[in-house]
Amino acid sequence: MTEHSTPAPRALLDAWEELRRVSPIERALRLAALWDPHVEWANRTLGERDRALWAMRAALFGANVEAVVRCRACPSSYELVLGVDELSRPQPSSDSVEVSSGALVFRLRAPTSTDVIRALAGGGEQEILRSCTSVQEDGLDLSFEAVPRELHALLEEQIAGIDPQIGFALGIECADCAVRSIFRLDAGDFLYAELERWCRSLLREIHLLAQAYGWTEDHILALSSFRRRSYLELVEERA
Ligand SMILES: [Zn+2]
Repeated sequence: MTEHSTPAPRALLDAWEELRRVSPIERALRLAALWDPHVEWANRTLGERDRALWAMRAALFGANVEAVVRCRACPSSYELVLGVDELSRPQPSSDSVEVSSGALVFRLRAPTSTDVIRALAGGGEQEILRSCTSVQEDGLDLSFEAVPRELHALLEEQIAGIDPQIGFALGIECADCAVRSIFRLDAGDFLYAELERWCRSLLREIHLLAQAYGWTEDHILALSSFRRRSYLELVEERA
């Protein structure tokens, strides 16, 4: 069980500033750590991490996600409103699956962020397959090199199917040209973009209140958002 908490505005502002210079995967991990700092997110599955990100998204910015989908075949675009409960797929009953082919028995597990980081560092896609596969024949462990190449695609497919969160996508049919476009939303990228918008708007509030009342950033951040907005209304009335 994770012990999550909704991060305070100060922590969100600090995170926004720190995360500007890190890679998308590192960003997703650090955002998940804001939600629950006691979990070693790098070694949890990608699905588990993304479910945490969507849960944090719902707590911070609400349970509905608005997105624009552009048709891949014509100039039409569509506004989608999705519930976070549609984007966050249910946790599978197991993070691993067993499959066999002839005398070979494979134990496959869902990939973690560490697997992806290793793949990005030079191992390539195959590195994920290698890390997530153990193989036995007659109860004896074999090395990954013993796996016939023609089985790789099948094993990759099985790994992708372990957790419905991984590679989650929606097919949207265009009302104008009937072509289906695939819509994907990366939880980390999406949440970071929203965090950025939210922080810029918070900075604007701080700026206006500091100018009007001479308060410090700390003082303004200690106010509830309701109180900040109420003061802002007064400032705007006066202007
Ligand atoms: Zn279209």
